[in-house]
Formats: sequence, C-alpha cells, structure tokens
Amino acid sequence: MQGNTHIVGGITASLAFAQFSNDNPLVLVGAGVIGALLPDICHRGSKIGRTFPLIAKLVTTVFGHRSFTHSLLFLISMMVLLHMLIPYRAISIGIIIGMASHIILDMCTKKGVKLFFPATVSIRFPLTTKTGSKVEGVVLMLLSMLSIYFSYELIVRFIDAI
Ligand SMILES: [Zn+2]
Repeated sequence: MQGNTHIVGGITASLAFAQFSNDNPLVLVGAGVIGALLPDICHRGSKIGRTFPLIAKLVTTVFGHRSFTHSLLFLISMMVLLHMLIPYRAISIGIIIGMASHIILDMCTKKGVKLFFPATVSIRFPLTTKTGSKVEGVVLMLLSMLSIYFSYELIVRFIDAI
C-alpha cells in the first residue's frame, strides 16, 4: 500500500480506538500516523525511508522488504521498548495501533507480509489488491469516510462533556 493509504489507515485505526479509551485523541492520532509509517523503514522509496535513508538501507540489507518490520516479533518488541522508554501511554498505544494498521493493510496486497518472521512464509488475506491500484483508491476513500465519522463522534462526545 502507498504512504497516503497507510497514513489514513493509521488515523482511522487510532480514531477507532479513541472511541473506547480516555486517551487524548489528538495524541493517539499523531502517534498513530508515525506508527503507520514506521514499518516501511525497510523500503528506501517509502516516505520514512526517504527521511532516514541510512537506517532504511541498513534494515533493507539485513532483513529485506516487508519482513522483520512487518512482523508480530517487531510489533511485540516495539511494545516492550515503547513501554520502557515512553511514560506517556497515548503515544505508545498510538504508535502500536498505527503499526498494526500498516501490517493489516499490507496483508491486503498480493505480496503479503512475513508476519511470523523469522519464518519466511508470506501472510495475506484471501482477497488482495495491487499497491497503487483502483481498489487501493477505494480503500483510501472508505478509510477517509470512516475517519470523518469517528472524528464526528469524538467531537459530539467532547461537546456533551462541556
Ligand atoms: Zn509496508
């Protein structure tokens, strides 16, 4: 999936989580976007890969594309690391939600992800699409609509509280 789809995916997922939690929704969304971009550090052409080209080159050389950084192992390692390093819950949770949304979206592509890295099997959903396809455009539109709906719900809740 393309960077924009991942960004909107991260926003949608963290807004969905915000419906049920007391964490600051703005912090959740900000962290969700960062988390949604993070796994593609294994890809030099990605938004985050272009921002940190040296790290991207290192990760690509060591692990390859869509392997370690798209796995449960990475997700769990990041959970532990964030828990230790960042005392503010909404940031850690937002990043993890964003990362999870990225992995799920990439599982909708033909290539799939190495979810169980170091096992080399690629995991994908039964229905998949190609990165940059028309279907991805539709997914992006649906996610945007969901984001607007979730934001609306949060605003209503906020107004009710004052
Ligand atoms: Zn990816």
